[in-house]
Amino acid sequence: MTQHSVSRATFDEVIVPNYNPPATLPVRGEGSRLWDQDGREHIDFAGGIAVNVLGHRHPRLVEALKDQADKLWHLSNAFTNEPVLELAQKLTARTFADQVFFCNSGAEANEAAFKLARKYAHDHHGAGKHEIIAFNQAFHGRTLFTVSVGGQAKYREGFEPVPAGISHVPYNDIEALRSVISDRTCAVVMEPVQGEGGVVPADPEFARAVRELCDEHQALLIFDEVQTGVGRTGSLYAYEQLGVTPDILTTAKALGGGFPIGAMLTRREIASSLNVGSHGTTYGGNPLGCAVAKAVLDIVDDVELLEGVKRKQALFVKLLEDISARHHCFREIRSAGLLIGAELTEHWHGQAAKFLAAARERGLMLLVAGPNVLRMTPSLIIPDEDIREGMALLEEAIASVLEVEHCA
Ligand SMILES: *Cc1c(COP(=O)(O)O)cnc(C)c1O
Repeated sequence: MTQHSVSRATFDEVIVPNYNPPATLPVRGEGSRLWDQDGREHIDFAGGIAVNVLGHRHPRLVEALKDQADKLWHLSNAFTNEPVLELAQKLTARTFADQVFFCNSGAEANEAAFKLARKYAHDHHGAGKHEIIAFNQAFHGRTLFTVSVGGQAKYREGFEPVPAGISHVPYNDIEALRSVISDRTCAVVMEPVQGEGGVVPADPEFARAVRELCDEHQALLIFDEVQTGVGRTGSLYAYEQLGVTPDILTTAKALGGGFPIGAMLTRREIASSLNVGSHGTTYGGNPLGCAVAKAVLDIVDDVELLEGVKRKQALFVKLLEDISARHHCFREIRSAGLLIGAELTEHWHGQAAKFLAAARERGLMLLVAGPNVLRMTPSLIIPDEDIREGMALLEEAIASVLEVEHCA
């Protein structure tokens, strides 16, 4: 094995220990395959956590980035630029929204959404209407405001005091929401499919009832589509399939196909509360990011590509069901397009990471969603043969984990 100038050991020396990556260190990608420092090939079912929607090194994204790199990289919001305006035109033409705020990540898009919800209520109803309701197990990012709105207490612990005026209720439980929503509520925030929370889709009836309760109480409905947006579930945004239109939508992850960018979309009347000077970020609407995101949307917002997502979803689910029929390993397989979660049987609850490691050893990159669920968020154009090959590796990995227990 060749010696490399940097390795996993370097990570422990120079990187803050808030992550724990494996020894495998990828250096190159192409489509849904990656190669590591030692030249080993890996099939990528992780997709950079629902980011690399067009796989690695898509030629049209590379071209868009290089073209813009030769023109203009950055200005700041002291000026506007052509790519940001063209991208905003595209997003507003294809959604309920009239106006867009750009930033650099999902957490920042949500931060803007929550601040806007409070500011809008403040402007129209006074300071009393400031409460935000979110759902248990929800994930909205890692800034202090977004971990506070998120429904997983472990991400807040040790960082207190956290912002006040936030409450949480069970997801897909409309009576629970009905019992806490009031005229003091400024917004209800939900993911159309809870991603980090275990790949749990919203019941369409629940989503419709949430919309009605928001309207009754003049509260804004915020959809966090950071993980579900940009084709992931088989429509450009998941709200289209739910048949429920939010007042504010946040999008990031897949939007840049691997280039960091986030956005908050809303109607003009609501947007007007973020008046000049009220909010901002230096890099938001950066020409490089916007040029790439524009190319991503040009490719993803296509009937054939989106139909392909549904077809590939069916293939993933069938192959997972086949594996489970042979090994009795999954309790439930949940999916929305190519956001796929396979919940382990109760016997294996808490041990998803073990399966992840076994898959990685065999050259398959996966994700987990909590301790019980194997999660897959591959490229939306992953070739069928890569799906089949990856699933064969997954079956070997599962068999090996089951085998070890058998022999123990
Ligand atoms: C990933 C994610 C976020 C946070 O996005 P970052 O870019 O990591 O800040 C927020 N909401 C949802 C639903 C996500 O999946």
